[in-house]
Amino acid sequence: MSRDQHKIPEDLLQLKKKIEILESQLEEIRLQSHVLLDIARALNASLDTRVIATNIISAIVSLIGIDQASVCLYREKTKDFEVIGVFDSGTLSPQIPSGLDLSFLSEVLTQGVTFYRPPQGFQNWQWICCLPLQNAQHKIGTINIHALRQPEITSEQMEFLETVAGHASSALENALLYAIVEQESITDGLTGVYNHRYFQKRLREHISLCQRRKRPVTFGLLIIDIDNFKMVNDNYGHQFGDNVLHTIVRELHNNLREGDLIARYGGEEFVVLIPETTEKITLLISEKIRKVVEKTSICYLPTNKDVSVTVSIGATLWHPLDSPDSLISRADQALYKAKRTGRNQSCIE
Ligand code: GH3
Ligand code: MG
Ligand code: MG
Repeated sequence: MSRDQHKIPEDLLQLKKKIEILESQLEEIRLQSHVLLDIARALNASLDTRVIATNIISAIVSLIGIDQASVCLYREKTKDFEVIGVFDSGTLSPQIPSGLDLSFLSEVLTQGVTFYRPPQGFQNWQWICCLPLQNAQHKIGTINIHALRQPEITSEQMEFLETVAGHASSALENALLYAIVEQESITDGLTGVYNHRYFQKRLREHISLCQRRKRPVTFGLLIIDIDNFKMVNDNYGHQFGDNVLHTIVRELHNNLREGDLIARYGGEEFVVLIPETTEKITLLISEKIRKVVEKTSICYLPTNKDVSVTVSIGATLWHPLDSPDSLISRADQALYKAKRTGRNQSCIE
């Protein structure tokens, strides 16, 4: 056999090896693109930022060995970070990583590039990696990964992490935009309290909640109407009238409990739903609000004059046979009585 006849199978062998390597690389790429597709699907499947944060962390944990991770949202208004997801391989109920330096994260977001470095005496981590979450318009937050014992991140893994961060940025931005739209759809634009439609929804829900309870339970309803508000607008202008509405809402927030539902019912009318209450307590709350409004004054700047307004309040309690309409109409009757018999008072029907 000549030497040339031997060479052919050797070349073939090398070619075969090369093909095998290429095939395994192709398989790896296929696997990665599947994983990425799954991650993109999982991240976009929710509009809850905390669920998205959990999914981001799960995606990372499925790919590389890490000891701690967190996802932070950047709050533009306060220039601060809120931790919305944490992972700690050492504990079942992870806390916010104790060494997480939030001011350092601002720097990562300002620079807009991934920070990856051994922490140099800062804690005893092997490495720390912070990926900025942002797009052309907004700084959204950061993904922070810490490792105590894990091997360094390879360049392929880093590429993968940055792709995950890209998907995470759009998923979180969608969720944040959705939350804004959702909030706007249920609140009154001028005063920030719930709007009429949302109040009606919550009222229906509250009624069915009370109907389902085994133990008899009721709730109170107040309709608060500013007295002679037209005159306030006529005398001091519409903008001052708006300030009055703001001030009344501030006092409602200051004098009611967290569980009480405040909504703007109409122009200068507000409603308050007071859960689990009695007639006596409802009337006490009603009078407390009325007295606070009476005592509060607002400065009319052009003449430096302190102006105050009063409110009339119609109060009622829900009865087991009440529909939303019958309940509201009874509170309305009570309000009408308060107006008719002198204003600046509470009446209960
Ligand atoms: P009453 O004591 O009988 O309730 O008298 P009133 O003047 O308060 O009631 P009326 O219904 O006659 O007038 C309500 C006024 O509330 C008229 C309207 O211009 C004013 N108003 C409604 N919405 C707003 C608002 O968003 N801003 C301002 N500044 N005024 C408003
Ligand atoms: Mg009115
Ligand atoms: Mg009025």
